[in-house]
Amino acid sequence: MATETDENAVLPGYAGTRGLNFWEADADLRDEAEARLSCGGPSIPALREFGGLVGGRLGGLIEAAHKTGKLPRLGTAELGGARVPAIEYCPEQLEARRLLARAMYGRPGLSLHERMTLAVLSNYAGEGGITCPLAMTEGLIGLLETRGTPAQKAWLPKLRSDDPDWALTGGQFVTERQGGSNVSANETVAVPDGDAWRLTGTKWFCSNPGELWVTTAKVEGTPHVGLFLVARRLADGRPNGHRILRKKEIGGTRGKATVEVEYEGARAELIGRAREGLVLLVDEILSVSRLHVAGAALGFASRALLEAETFAAWRVAYGRAIKDMPSVAARLKRMRLTRRGMLRAFYAGVDAVAAGAPEAEALVPLLKVEVSKRATFLIREAQLLVGGHGILDDFSPLNRLADDAIVNEIWEGTHPILCGHAAKALRRPRVLDAFLKLRRASPYAGEIRARIEASRRWSDDEKNLKDEDLVGQAYELAAEL
Ligand SMILES: Cc1cc2nc3c(=O)[nH]c(=O)nc-3n(C[C@H](O)[C@H](O)[C@H](O)COP(=O)(O)OP(=O)(O)OC[C@H]3O[C@@H](n4cnc5c(N)ncnc54)[C@H](O)[C@@H]3O)c2cc1C
Repeated sequence: MATETDENAVLPGYAGTRGLNFWEADADLRDEAEARLSCGGPSIPALREFGGLVGGRLGGLIEAAHKTGKLPRLGTAELGGARVPAIEYCPEQLEARRLLARAMYGRPGLSLHERMTLAVLSNYAGEGGITCPLAMTEGLIGLLETRGTPAQKAWLPKLRSDDPDWALTGGQFVTERQGGSNVSANETVAVPDGDAWRLTGTKWFCSNPGELWVTTAKVEGTPHVGLFLVARRLADGRPNGHRILRKKEIGGTRGKATVEVEYEGARAELIGRAREGLVLLVDEILSVSRLHVAGAALGFASRALLEAETFAAWRVAYGRAIKDMPSVAARLKRMRLTRRGMLRAFYAGVDAVAAGAPEAEALVPLLKVEVSKRATFLIREAQLLVGGHGILDDFSPLNRLADDAIVNEIWEGTHPILCGHAAKALRRPRVLDAFLKLRRASPYAGEIRARIEASRRWSDDEKNLKDEDLVGQAYELAAEL
């Protein structure tokens, strides 16, 4: 199908996957999603329309936003009469964000299944830099809806808006220089100041340094890490006690900016109670963004599979289409099966979260680990299958997918940390029982229960190692569904 980017396709006659409707092109995704959405209701036509948007206009904008000279840069902006460091995005990136925000928030009352299906489809366009801010915004919306004060809830209309001149996106500033995994070691300090707080310290990885941030800080004189809301500007428009120190040079998700931020007495509002910051962070924020990361990885893997299949059907070697060569056919079959397992496990996780079921506590972290790992593998397989063209930036999105896929494996918690969370959840009898009910007859079910029993005797170091195996088996069980 001809699009304005075809001039970059270096093989005459090969149209690739640009311009395809990714909803129409993915029968397995449609089967999983449609079984859960009201057939004939408004969501299916909306998903079809969105699939066309991602393959067409959105995909084109994202490609354009990654051309040389178009990536975000650190410039300056006028804030309350002062010139301060600020990120500048190209118009294509801003338009892509607006289109996505409209699809995610423009229609009120979308179910979790609809939002997650939109998230998977949007990641077919291969851009964690655009979908990450939306995932963080969704986490912040949920947190404010459940735990915000009336004043904090006043931010919600702006967070849900798709009007570029008015809308806000949320950032999550948690990780510090001394390490992101152990959040309780945070050194940023919060000091009470009247009905608010003042923050001092450095946040080391701040993606999406937009207008409103949820951040962690240790309450002065206590071991408690609280969760705080920080606006970039004060009510009078002046900068709110912070400085952007530097924009990081990152190898993936380059469509967005990740910066370092120094709090210099920034005014902050506490969310919930001071001693429950870590619980709120995991339950309200990270559980949402981890599900989004799994959905993003699934979208990346799905696009990679489509790229491999499309190329293999077109490319001829030794007089026949390479898809018909037994070794290529076997590799494609393995890729399809892997992706189908990812799809099934992912929707089992979405079902559990939507139902508030106990097994969700284990499924969300294990999906983040196992789906993101498999996405990296599938993208690499697709690149190898496509051959030299698999690593050409202007031929397909595979390079960008590969760069972003490793980031999905790291952010929102590395594998050992999340395996620990999943295994800890499985050690709770009500979570284990609910989880094994997913598929009692599975050969993995007995093995998982035996390992949980055995784990009571493991040392902490052993747990770190063996939790990874346990989570691998638990994933296989979820993917068997
Ligand atoms: C592109 C990008 C954007 C990001 N954006 C944000 C953002 O917007 N906001 C934010 O807060 N953070 C962000 N992060 C940070 C990210 O969440 C952290 O990098 C991640 O949580 C890991 O923290 P760390 O890098 O400090 O590694 P560390 O915590 O220092 O870990 C280093 C290694 O030690 C291992 N390890 C640590 N503890 C254990 C343990 N108990 N058992 C076994 N192994 C262990 C880890 O698995 C890892 O392999 C971003 C990261 C990237 C790459």
